[in-house]
Amino acid sequence: MGSQIKHIICYSGGHSSAIVAIETARRYGNKNVILLNHNINPRYENADIKRFKREVAQYLGLKITYANIRGINDEKLIPNQFEVCEEAGSFVNPHNRQILCTHRLKTQPFYDYLETLEKEYICVYYGFDGEELERVDRRKTILNDEGITSDFPIALWGNGRFEKLLKYLQKSGAKNPEKIAQIENYENKDSWERTIFSTKEIGIEPPNTYTVWKHANCTGCLKAGKQHWYCVYVHDYETYQRGKLSEEIIGYSIHKEGWLKDWEKDFEIMKLSGIPANEHISAKIFWKSANRFTKMDVEDLFPCQCFV
Ligand code: SF4
Repeated sequence: MGSQIKHIICYSGGHSSAIVAIETARRYGNKNVILLNHNINPRYENADIKRFKREVAQYLGLKITYANIRGINDEKLIPNQFEVCEEAGSFVNPHNRQILCTHRLKTQPFYDYLETLEKEYICVYYGFDGEELERVDRRKTILNDEGITSDFPIALWGNGRFEKLLKYLQKSGAKNPEKIAQIENYENKDSWERTIFSTKEIGIEPPNTYTVWKHANCTGCLKAGKQHWYCVYVHDYETYQRGKLSEEIIGYSIHKEGWLKDWEKDFEIMKLSGIPANEHISAKIFWKSANRFTKMDVEDLFPCQCFV
């Protein structure tokens, strides 16, 4: 890939995107590396995620390039996920049923930013891992159709990962797997050893949010499931209330399975029962133990209080 190529890192504030930024800068030098972030209102993006983004950028000697909704620079003025949906009167795009906040806050600003560049001279990088080849394939195909090259260092660099992608594409019935896989000359990348696996190796602690949350997403993520919203209920009750208000304003529930206001009773029982509010517990175990308690009456949860 020529030196004029701009390496656009989808720099989300998550640990994987930081690793991708570091691997890419080490591979190509930092001169043409762009850390592209869609900033989030600080009420809904944890301060430690912002700290992490800053520290990794400093380590790389790069500034963060922001592509924010409507070009808003002051992060406090950036509308939150609820507000953008309320403006549109829906949580989803009626045509494709995709969650609307991602599109408004991230996808549209991303494409607007790409419009300012010459497409044939850019490569876009994502932090998907080797278990996410389906996502890799989907994203790569969408971008290929737009004439944009993409790369996935964690999923595809080194250790025969190219072969894995090729096999996956062949198995999944992709129309032209060799073309998709070879378009960025992945054979060479099979010999590329990864150089970093954790930012702790360079003295940067990953966001402390990972102790509870799986992703560096907005708190109160409209794409996330019921377990996430239980964690929101326990750790950030105000955001839970904001979600309820949004459902009331829009007149639809965020989730197909039910309304936040209707989950509250069970969530309170789960909280009182000590069900850990943590996204890292597998959904199966989490709900199995939660369901045991939510089937009981609140009085059953406590020992008898009669001392006579
Ligand atoms: S992280 Fe969740 S809430 Fe935030 S923009 Fe993406 S889908 Fe919406």
